[in-house]
Amino acid sequence: MNKIDEKSAARLLRENDNILILTHRNPDGDTIGSGFALLHALKKLGKTVKVVCTDPFPEKYGYIAHSNNDDVGENPYVVAVDVADMELIGAQYRAKYEHGVKLCIDHHISNKEFAENLCLRSCSATCEIIYDVIKAMDVEIDKSVADSLYTGIATDTGCFLFSSVTARTHIIAADLIEHGADFFEINRIMFETKSLGYFKLEAAALNTVEMHCGGKCAFMTVTMDMQKQSGTKDGDFDGIAGLPRKIEGVLVAVTFRETKDGNFKVSMRSHEPIDSSKICMNFGGGGHSRAAGCTFEKEALEENKKKLLSIIETELKGI
Ligand code: 5GP
Ligand code: MN
Repeated sequence: MNKIDEKSAARLLRENDNILILTHRNPDGDTIGSGFALLHALKKLGKTVKVVCTDPFPEKYGYIAHSNNDDVGENPYVVAVDVADMELIGAQYRAKYEHGVKLCIDHHISNKEFAENLCLRSCSATCEIIYDVIKAMDVEIDKSVADSLYTGIATDTGCFLFSSVTARTHIIAADLIEHGADFFEINRIMFETKSLGYFKLEAAALNTVEMHCGGKCAFMTVTMDMQKQSGTKDGDFDGIAGLPRKIEGVLVAVTFRETKDGNFKVSMRSHEPIDSSKICMNFGGGGHSRAAGCTFEKEALEENKKKLLSIIETELKGI
């Protein structure tokens, strides 16, 4: 598929009037921020636009995930944002749009290039790219767009903490703040607020930490029972997956989270030089160099854990 630049992406969006935006399953701030920044911007051009996801948008994103009631009809122009692989949009939309996505805007190393492709792997968040596309469309950035883009950039960088952050990330964030992004409130909601249930879930999960590879690798497990007992709702688990990497000396941290179907969502977080995306690709997943994921079927959990540990051991050799 063709690689395109921001200007071409902006032209394609300007040329179409009915636009459907696909976000990835277990939606995070970057996919939601990208989708709704585009929605709010395209609506200013008089377009009919809808953002969809196979899972509900967590309530905490309600300040940007609104104004989403347009009917785009049966034959919309389909755009995927922050989606590296069609598998990540979920079965329902995959069946319908497997070959119908016209434009993909993303920043994952593992992007499968399934449409006209604007994938800039050096960007800390897809929202950085959407910022350029909106500028190229010549739409003024208002508060809704600024809040949406700021949300994506702040959440995908762990509040400007990760090695993916560049000077340009900060320049864009500063511009968004000048255009009304409520950075203090967004950061409070995203980074300084946890439900009591979530605190309990973290405590239970921390109790399961197992150390491997002489302290360089940590495994953590979050079972369905823990999720039920703590009273947490299905939602945003990015914070929990980041915890075991904070242990001093750990270079690779893996969180195994049981999902409703009994399978396990694997979330890997690493430090330089460990490439999480490369490791997860062995299991059909992917992501970024320092944050990636894949899924282990329940039947193959133990076998896959062993295989994973042996791959990690090889990666850690000599470090
Ligand atoms: P998380 O661990 O927070 O679910 O995901 C971390 C990063 O890895 C995200 O950028 C996410 O898109 C990517 N990722 C997680 N799981 C998968 C997967 O199963 N396949 C692919 N291709 N990427 C994944
Ligand atoms: Mn992202």
